Amino acid sequence: MTREERLAALREAPVVLVSACLLGEACRYDGKSKGSSPVMRALEGKEVVPVCPETGAGLGIPRPAVELKGGAGAEVLAGRARAAEVESGKDRTEAFRQGAELALAAARRFGVRVAVLKERSPSCGTQGTHVDGAVVRGQGVTAALLSQAGLIVVSDEEL
Ligand code: SF4
Repeated sequence: MTREERLAALREAPVVLVSACLLGEACRYDGKSKGSSPVMRALEGKEVVPVCPETGAGLGIPRPAVELKGGAGAEVLAGRARAAEVESGKDRTEAFRQGAELALAAARRFGVRVAVLKERSPSCGTQGTHVDGAVVRGQGVTAALLSQAGLIVVSDEEL
């Protein structure tokens, strides 16, 4: 699907799932938010379902930064890669999978077909994410699960 097709789907969507940090929620790993004026403009007149997969799975604010190890989100979901804290190496795969499931459950509950997600997050990145110390092409764990379920995922940086 092209960027234009994704944006057209977003324009027509009555209800949109959105990374909560883009709405100004201070739920990022560093305790900050990433409030976005372009995102807010794109959501005017729509129902919004905010989700933060990581805090939804019980990870705190602030929390140690996490990256994916061995592959991006789809590989994590397939059991061939994992999520781990950058500094300590502590495994966070289960929390990331659980957070993705919570986001998908929210999407299904509210009939969501389109999501606007924070780019490069190991959970929410739609086109790039952190794997093994670098930003690579690929999705975060939540973006991958939503995509597999048929949702259209739009990057905040496309708006
Ligand atoms: S990018 Fe996703 S997981 Fe990270 S703070 Fe934002 S909503 Fe939460």
